[in-house]
Amino acid sequence: MAPLCLLSKNLVSVQVSARSGHKQVSRFLGIFSKMNETKEELAVDPDETNNVEMDDNNKNDEFRKSTTVDLLQWKDMPKHLQFNPYVITGYRPLSNVRGCVNSLFYYHNETVNILTHGIPVIYILATVPYLMPWTDFRFLSWCHLIGSLAPWCGSFLYHLFMNLDHGSVVYYRLLKLDMFGIWMSQSFGAVTFVTATGFCWRIKSVLILAYCVLCLYGLYKALLASSPWQRRLCFLFPFVMRVHLVVLRMFKLAGGNTESMVHVYLQDGVSIIGGAIGAEHWPEKWCPGSVDFCLNSHNIMHVLVVVAVYSMHQATMRDMEWMSKAQCYATNESVPLASINQSHPEL
Ligand SMILES: [Zn+2]
Repeated sequence: MAPLCLLSKNLVSVQVSARSGHKQVSRFLGIFSKMNETKEELAVDPDETNNVEMDDNNKNDEFRKSTTVDLLQWKDMPKHLQFNPYVITGYRPLSNVRGCVNSLFYYHNETVNILTHGIPVIYILATVPYLMPWTDFRFLSWCHLIGSLAPWCGSFLYHLFMNLDHGSVVYYRLLKLDMFGIWMSQSFGAVTFVTATGFCWRIKSVLILAYCVLCLYGLYKALLASSPWQRRLCFLFPFVMRVHLVVLRMFKLAGGNTESMVHVYLQDGVSIIGGAIGAEHWPEKWCPGSVDFCLNSHNIMHVLVVVAVYSMHQATMRDMEWMSKAQCYATNESVPLASINQSHPEL
């Protein structure tokens, strides 16, 4: 992992020089302002000079305060924000709502997390609604849109406002909002997969209901979880059910587009890898302080979640296309399903 650590060190030095440059700009503006004051002193009545100078100095101080944010270290942060001891620098100070929103415009150790889950919201809203087959699968289209959008909304708000100066209670509520977004994605996002898998089964409704019950149980456990691993294991029950359905699809014993299988494997496989990296703090565990701003475990996990949701979208679109053409037979269900995939090579 040495090259990763070295690369990140260079990024940190660029960030530090950017910050010092930012301060130099502020100092330059201060000097420029002083020069103006000197010119004004020649023209203005000497009795008023002191008052004007004090006002201008106050304005300069306020300007410097509003444009320069001194980032803090891990040891300076309150306990609830010390969740990763291997990320040492780049922490935003506690601030109000306006301060949190302003942090969108300078570089800190949550910038990558905010952007990697903020940009997908805009991209998905601009593209996915126009790709969905609303006429044929209205309910499933809504499920997919909600499942695609939910993880980014919760995550974006959590990372942007985690340094809100309202104490640990508000922080843990934001964390639950983040978890709720992931749950929505896992639950609503997989409804099409479950429906396509049991498309020709008489127990299709029971299958979907069973998946919903497991998801609700996972949500209940997730909201009570107190550690990163506990939070991830809450999604175990719906995941195990999906694995069983994937195995049935692998052996062509269930419905669904065979062309979507690569994306079906990726959507859960990539999520598991991302979750493990995040919980184990790789790679910052091996080089503490070197990947504070970029390429740390949470950054990597965020990117892998984007890949997982992309795969979910691809698998969902293919399954919907398959369902729109599939024909089910009462006598022998598995043979016609396999033959449908073969007779429609465009699927
Ligand atoms: Zn996150």
